[in-house]
Amino acid sequence: MKILFATSEIAPWMKTGGLGDVAAALPPVLRAAGIDVRVLVPYYPALRRAFPEDETPVVASLGNFGAHFAGSALRAAVAPDGTPLLLLDSLIYFDRPGNPYLGPEGHDWLDNHLRFGLLSRVAAWLGSADNHLPWQPNVVHCNDWQTGLAPAYLKLLPGSHARALITVHNLAFQGLFGHHALREIGLPESAWTMHGVEFHGHLSFLKGGLHYADAITTVSPTYAAEIQTDEEGMGLAGLLRARAAQLSGIINGIDTVAWDPARDRHLSFGYDVRHLDAKRRNKAQLQEEMGLAVRDDLPLLGVVSRLTHQKGLDLIAELQQQIADLPAQLVVLGSGERGLEETFRELAVARPGQFAAFVGFDEGLAHRIEAGADIFLMPSRFEPCGLNQMYSLRYGTPPVVRATGGLADTVIDGVNGFVFREPTAAALLAALRRAVAAWHDPKTWRRLQADGMNRDLGWTNPASQYAALYDKLISRPAGH
Ligand code: ADP
Repeated sequence: MKILFATSEIAPWMKTGGLGDVAAALPPVLRAAGIDVRVLVPYYPALRRAFPEDETPVVASLGNFGAHFAGSALRAAVAPDGTPLLLLDSLIYFDRPGNPYLGPEGHDWLDNHLRFGLLSRVAAWLGSADNHLPWQPNVVHCNDWQTGLAPAYLKLLPGSHARALITVHNLAFQGLFGHHALREIGLPESAWTMHGVEFHGHLSFLKGGLHYADAITTVSPTYAAEIQTDEEGMGLAGLLRARAAQLSGIINGIDTVAWDPARDRHLSFGYDVRHLDAKRRNKAQLQEEMGLAVRDDLPLLGVVSRLTHQKGLDLIAELQQQIADLPAQLVVLGSGERGLEETFRELAVARPGQFAAFVGFDEGLAHRIEAGADIFLMPSRFEPCGLNQMYSLRYGTPPVVRATGGLADTVIDGVNGFVFREPTAAALLAALRRAVAAWHDPKTWRRLQADGMNRDLGWTNPASQYAALYDKLISRPAGH
């Protein structure tokens, strides 16, 4: 079994979201299970620094993909964990600093269709009969819109080719471009149909992937069901329903080494399920660090999140009076939309000692909140998978979550956390009240903590589901 994992992000070198973590974590676990996985990723400056040119031999020059795709090459490297990397070296498209998608002004690069068209084209080439390298994958595993056109190229190319799988990490990002892009990236006009890559007058990279791939996965079973509904399908529900037989959900794992309360290098007091007393010391330290009153008799609510509409944090802000009256303390770490940043800054100023906020990105503080808070809040409007609720389960910090996507698949109401349905402040408050009541009952609380801490949240289980899917794809005839 030879798998090409094609991605536009890989942690720790280039990461804007969950995809970067998955690209770093899943391939080594698959390799440990005996599967020959290689990762195709652009040779961004951060990767160029980590794997310098003179140590990464060119394994192929890529010349014949059309005028816009001239002058690139594939280089081979090996990640520190042993995963082989195929680095797509294109000076004009990928030797740019910072975020992989946005220029210095914060706007999408105007040539993103060429940049990720090339990445998709090269992924497809690797899986095609034109690839005469010693290594040829049987499955090209694409991720999100940035590699979404690889299945289209594969299907539209002559000759036998690898199976294509696409994983959707977030349906909200679709890679939409004007009609001109079709010709520039070398796809035939025949693909410009509703049953192809066209989406309401645009070229959609993601739709191309969803239409042409042999199988589709997304990052939780509940999200797989939700995206087939008109409410949450972001305009693609019809296509996803039509492909329901090829669509499944596989929940992401977490990094159980970096996120281990017993060995976490960001904590002063390690603990596990049998030594929960040390968790209280992390709470006191967090209260001190954040300028909160050091009190053991109040539940401390924690939030670590991008501050965006998706995450439902406006619902928490709406409840400031009720949270203060519970009574409970609140600590928020996040950055994102200006308005929400301002809201949480103001809340902290208005209620010193009871509410605290840090606006910014701080990995260490994220770990200390997971460990030091009593209850974790994640009222997301939608959540393809979500990592923070899994970290909080593992840290004995039962989460209060909305029943959506991966939150619904990992948090069980009254067993390891608290779940509410409606995306309203009232529904959140009702769940929060139940959580606080449970917190005041130590026996109940220990049971909730223990359930989360004892759960297997690592990558072994998800990786075996991907392996089974690869196996199924390889062993069945082409076409769908
Ligand atoms: P999403 O990928 O939608 O942002 P997830 O819960 O899946 O949400 O993952 C978010 C990741 O980013 C987690 O690892 C979380 O700890 C981290 N994170 C988010 N905001 C911050 C922040 N302000 N500081 C530190 N870590 C953050």
